[in-house]
Amino acid sequence: MKKTGFTTKALNVKFPSNDPYNSMQMPLYESVAYEFDSSEQIEANFKGEYVAHTYSRTSNPTVEYLELKLKLLLNAKNVLAVGSGMAAISNTLLSVLKSGDNVISGHQLFGHTYALFSKTFKDLGIDFRFSSLTSKDEIEALIDGNTRAIYFETVTNPQLDIADIKMLSEISGKYNILLIADSTITPPNIFDGKKAGVDIEVISATKYLSGGGTCFGGIIVDYGDYKWELNPNLAEYSDKYKDKAFIAKLRKNVFRNTGGSISPQAALTLIHGIDILELRVEKCYKNCISLCSFLYDHPAVKQVGYPGYESDSRYYLAKKYFKGVPGTIITFDLESKEACYRFMNRLKVIRRATNLNDNKSLIIHPHSTIYGEFSEDERQKAGIRNTMLRLSVGIENHEDLIQDIKQAIEFE
Ligand code: PLP
Repeated sequence: MKKTGFTTKALNVKFPSNDPYNSMQMPLYESVAYEFDSSEQIEANFKGEYVAHTYSRTSNPTVEYLELKLKLLLNAKNVLAVGSGMAAISNTLLSVLKSGDNVISGHQLFGHTYALFSKTFKDLGIDFRFSSLTSKDEIEALIDGNTRAIYFETVTNPQLDIADIKMLSEISGKYNILLIADSTITPPNIFDGKKAGVDIEVISATKYLSGGGTCFGGIIVDYGDYKWELNPNLAEYSDKYKDKAFIAKLRKNVFRNTGGSISPQAALTLIHGIDILELRVEKCYKNCISLCSFLYDHPAVKQVGYPGYESDSRYYLAKKYFKGVPGTIITFDLESKEACYRFMNRLKVIRRATNLNDNKSLIIHPHSTIYGEFSEDERQKAGIRNTMLRLSVGIENHEDLIQDIKQAIEFE
């Protein structure tokens, strides 16, 4: 029988090897090293002629199952799990870029991604060319012979703008460059990266996949559609490994050598988190809709942003790419920064914390925290107002969330 539903598929991915006890859950393999039967066998393993787990920084049975599960769920060619979302982004880029190259990227990026691009990679001689990513002409004008990729976030945080992925995919196809998406906000049950034309996806599994703010993890997805011989930095690997060139370089030359592996415990947490992902997203989405109806009508609320709500101008893009569910983060504005602070300080159910897609609803004032290091000019360009709050909506009872907001909000 063909299993089509996300959760049905997730619950029925077979283990890579039979479990001796017929365990219903993937065991946690805590071991650092794995034993071989003979010196000949270990030699063959190091030569790549005998495939087996050797040392858990490079591969581990629990991590392997996580990768297999996501590969099948995403209909991907290859998946690599790493220690954090930032490790997924840096490992991916280190595998496809070298000094002198450039990448076209959106202006609106998660803060540490922006810092990685504008500071860390800049020091390595790699140029990130920032654009609004809304105009084809503007993007094309930035592309030259050393452009290797277009990098974007499916839904930007906290602005919640949605990229026109089809347009980006047409441009990357025309210039033979990679299209890389950070899809952290829109997890795999609502976003089909392959169908949207993305080549490589990076995900901070710390968010939704962890089952609610329980561990760090990062996922790198290769959909297998990019011709790796088109990138001169992968020429050697593409001759030898063909359509596995990216994953081969990533594993052998970057991931193993930089040491950003995920722990087996975190991998197991993600395996459990993925099994209940769809349920959690559904509940968070329903809460978002209830909260939007309340916030839109409240006289103390000056502006509400949630592209999953019909009256939001980005709703058509949410339907086009994310089945109408563009993540479950809402932004709203109060009269002033002081009003935002007073409101936050009075909350009793919603927590003041900087994370996303926890089971608990979390609130933050981005202007004074995540964007605290930025100049006012940079904040304005990024659309970060000092009157704006970001609410990551959790799975609590929606009436409790509304009551909490009601008792905390000021209105005379
Ligand atoms: N990408 C996005 C969109 C994020 O929001 C974050 C973290 O908040 C990251 C990447 C980095 O993920 P991690 O904290 O797992 O390194």
